[in-house]
Amino acid sequence: MGARSGQDYIERLAATRPAVQLAGERIEGAVTEHPLLGRLVSSFAALYDMQLEPARLDTMTYQEPGSSERYGTSFIVPRTHEDLVHRRESMKAWADYSLGTLGRTGDYLNCAVMALSEAQSFFAQADQAFAANIAAYYQRVRREDLLLTHTLISPQANRSQDAAAQQGGALTARIVKEDDNGVTIRGARMLATIGPIADELLVFPSTVLKGTPEDAPYSFAFAINCDAPGLRFICRESLDYGGSHFDHPLGSRFEEIDSVVVFDDVQVPYERCFLLGHPDLCNGFYTDTTAAAHMTHQVATRTIAKTEAMVGIATLLSEAIGIESFQHIQEDLAELIVTLEIVRGLVRSAEADAAPNEFGVLTPKMASLNACRNWFPKASQRFPQILRKFGASGLMALPTQADIEGAAHDDIELYLQSATLDGGERVRLFRLAWDMSMSAFAGRQTLYEYFFFGDPVRMAGALVRGYDREPYTARVREFLERP
Ligand SMILES: Cc1cc2nc3c(=O)[nH]c(=O)nc-3n(C[C@H](O)[C@H](O)[C@H](O)COP(=O)(O)OP(=O)(O)OC[C@H]3O[C@@H](n4cnc5c(N)ncnc54)[C@H](O)[C@@H]3O)c2cc1C
Repeated sequence: MGARSGQDYIERLAATRPAVQLAGERIEGAVTEHPLLGRLVSSFAALYDMQLEPARLDTMTYQEPGSSERYGTSFIVPRTHEDLVHRRESMKAWADYSLGTLGRTGDYLNCAVMALSEAQSFFAQADQAFAANIAAYYQRVRREDLLLTHTLISPQANRSQDAAAQQGGALTARIVKEDDNGVTIRGARMLATIGPIADELLVFPSTVLKGTPEDAPYSFAFAINCDAPGLRFICRESLDYGGSHFDHPLGSRFEEIDSVVVFDDVQVPYERCFLLGHPDLCNGFYTDTTAAAHMTHQVATRTIAKTEAMVGIATLLSEAIGIESFQHIQEDLAELIVTLEIVRGLVRSAEADAAPNEFGVLTPKMASLNACRNWFPKASQRFPQILRKFGASGLMALPTQADIEGAAHDDIELYLQSATLDGGERVRLFRLAWDMSMSAFAGRQTLYEYFFFGDPVRMAGALVRGYDREPYTARVREFLERP
C-alpha cells in the first residue's frame, strides 16, 4: 500500500478494539468515534492526507528505484545529504501543522524502526532470527504506513529501587513465560502517548539494566498491536474539553492523551520479538544502532517548528497591544530568536557533519543533536513564561466564541480591541497564546518538552560520560606545562 490517506488510517483504527480506560469508562466502540479521542484522530488523519496532496507528494513521500510505490519520507534509509534534507522537510511539514505541539507524529518512530532494521548485525549478536524480525517489521510498518507509539520506563513506585526489587518485581512489565511460540508479558510500563489511537505499541528497553540475572526478565524489545488481548491503556484525564477550535485552538485539535500500559499476560509471538534477554544489548539498543540519532533528528526538527511558532505568537502579541518597543519585551523576543537559530544551527550541523554508521546509513552527527536534546528541554521552559509576561491580564480577558457571537458582541468589539486587531480577532490570538502558555494543554506541553526524551539529569550524565574531552584536557595539560 505505501503512504496512506487519512481515511485509510481511520478505517483501520475503527476496525480495532483496544482496551482503553478513559474518563471513568472502558471504551466499548471504535476509538475514532469517541468524543475525547475523535478530534485527535482527525488531526492525525489530516497529516496522512497531507502526504498525498499533489503539491506535497514529492516532499512527503519517496520512491525506490524500479518501484512505483510511494512511502512516507520518514521511512527513507538516508544514503545522501539530500535524503536527510528530504526527510527533515517532510518532518517539518508535519510539525508545522500543529505548531510543533504534536510530539508523536508517525515520523518520530518511523525513523527509529528504519535505523533498527538496518542494524541487523547488532540484533544478530543475540539471534539471527531477531535480525530478520526487525527487518520484516520495518518492511511491514512502511508498507502499511502504521502509526506507532512506544513505552520505555517502569512504573514510578520507588525510584530508589530497580524494577526487579519493586514489590518483589511484580510491578514492571516482565517476561513471565517463554515457550516455542514466544513470550508472555505481565506488569506495567509508563507512558504511551497516543496509545489509544496508534496501530502498534513498541515495547523497547529502558537502557538502565545492570546486566544482573535479576534483570533478564526485564530485558526485551518487541512490537505488539494495540488491541492485543490482555493489553490495557489507562489514560489520564483528557485535556480536550470539547470546546470549539476558537476557544481551545490547540487542546481541541492536538491533545495527545498519555496512558499507562498494563500487560495482563500478553502473548507476544516470536516473530514480533527483536531482543529477549541480553541486558547489555538492551542498554546499547538506541545508541549502538544509531536509532537515537535518527529519532533526535525528528525531535529537533519539531523543535524548530515549535520555536518558530513561539516567535510568531510572541511577535503578534507584542504588536497587538503595542509593547514591542519596550526593552524587556525585545530582550525576550531576542531570546526566542536566539533559541530558534541555535536549534536550526544544531540541526544543520548534524546534517552537514553526517557520516555513514557502521551499517551504511547516513547518520546525522549525534554530538550536535545531543547538545540539542540536552539543552532544549531547559530552554523551552521559558516559552510559557515569555508569553505570560507579554500577555499579562490579556490572557485573562478571554471571553468565549459564544460570548463574541452573543449579547456581549458589541462590548467585546469595543473594549477588547487592540492596536492592530478588532475585539474578536484579538481574543482569537490571545486564546492561542493562552493554550500555548497557561491552559492544561500548555502545562502538559511544558512537562512533555522537559521529560519526554528522558530525564535531563540522567541525559546530562550520559552526555558527559560519552563525550570525548581528551583533546581539551590534553591541551590544558600542555599549557600548564609551559615554562
Ligand atoms: C507528557 C509526557 C509524555 C511521555 N510519553 C512517553 C511515551 O510515549 N513513551 C515513553 O516511553 N515514555 C514517555 N514519557 C516518559 C519519559 O520518558 C519520562 O518522563 C522520563 O524518562 C523520566 O522518567 P520518569 O518520568 O519516570 O521520572 P523519574 O525517573 O521518576 O524521575 C522523577 C525525579 O527523580 C529524579 N530521579 C529519579 N531517578 C533518578 C536517578 N537514578 N538519578 C538522578 N535523578 C533521578 C529525576 O531527575 C526527576 O526529577 C512521557 C513523559 C511525559 C512527561
